[in-house]
Amino acid sequence: MNILLSGATGFIGQSLLAALLKDNHQIYAFVRKVDNRLDARVRQLTLASLAELEEKIDVFINLAGENIASQPWTKKRKEVLFESRINLTNKVKEALQYPPKTVISMSAVGYYGVARNEVFYENTPPKSGFSHDLCAAWESSAKAFSNDDTRVVIFRLGVVLGIGGALEKMRLPFLCGLGGPIAGGKQWFSWVHIADVIKAITNAMFDESYTGIYNLVAPQLIEQKHFAKSYAASLKRPAILPTPRWPLDLIFGEMASLLTEGAKVVPQKLEKQGFEFQFDNIDDALTDIAKQH
Ligand code: NDP
Repeated sequence: MNILLSGATGFIGQSLLAALLKDNHQIYAFVRKVDNRLDARVRQLTLASLAELEEKIDVFINLAGENIASQPWTKKRKEVLFESRINLTNKVKEALQYPPKTVISMSAVGYYGVARNEVFYENTPPKSGFSHDLCAAWESSAKAFSNDDTRVVIFRLGVVLGIGGALEKMRLPFLCGLGGPIAGGKQWFSWVHIADVIKAITNAMFDESYTGIYNLVAPQLIEQKHFAKSYAASLKRPAILPTPRWPLDLIFGEMASLLTEGAKVVPQKLEKQGFEFQFDNIDDALTDIAKQH
């Protein structure tokens, strides 16, 4: 297949790229600048060269976006987060000479906002907030590809667990025994192992019954304190040090909600689709990742 991949250099992109190359697909990576870290078999395309591409794209996999958790959400940063997702998706659509057969685009469980008691299925009305606005706009830009010739699949991801990403940022404090419940630890923590992310994306490439929105989170619902205990155990460390909410609010402002709030999200459509999670238990997922390190 001819696959156009944005975000190929990122945490998920690198794993996905390795899997796609193994299966001998022709990969076109949409990049902002040519990146020497990418495999020589990958054809790198900037916006200008994408517009000149004569080959038809079978699947466009859209992962690119500035990191949502790396800087506080100032007005300027929010614009960058929007620009790097929505404008980028729109520009790819405009640049391609032929519509792709399939578009698989990411979103996040942040689409639903935060809530303690409510359960969120794919069609549950969301709460308001910046995360919702960003995800909703990103999803709309991906849905704009949809027509009789193009099938669109959108995955609302939980925190992706693997070597890299969010777990890598937490690793050092947890190794130092500084992990523990955050802001009481009773907020829901939606997670998914990277192996299941790769599996869901590749399933959606080939299986035409995949269409529309899917929550891509493990079926096991856990609170943040459960995650902290399990992660510390996988590193053979204690997880007893609580972090109160106020310093996080002080340091990170609105962005602190990524750590202190959550929502109970269920992968209802994937389960109906018959998707089998390789990792449906947080202890197994984190033990697997600890073994790979
Ligand atoms: P990373 O932050 O690891 O990678 C982001 C990728 O996007 C990089 O390849 C980066 O390229 C590219 N990118 C960023 N801005 C631009 C831009 N303006 N133009 C072109 N490329 C750009 O993200 P992940 O791999 O972890 O996640 C992939 C997507 O999934 C992200 O959009 C993220 O928001 C979403 N997601 C991820 C979750 C997770 O836990 N990992 C959870 C929920 C959603 P470069 O090398 O040039 O910087």
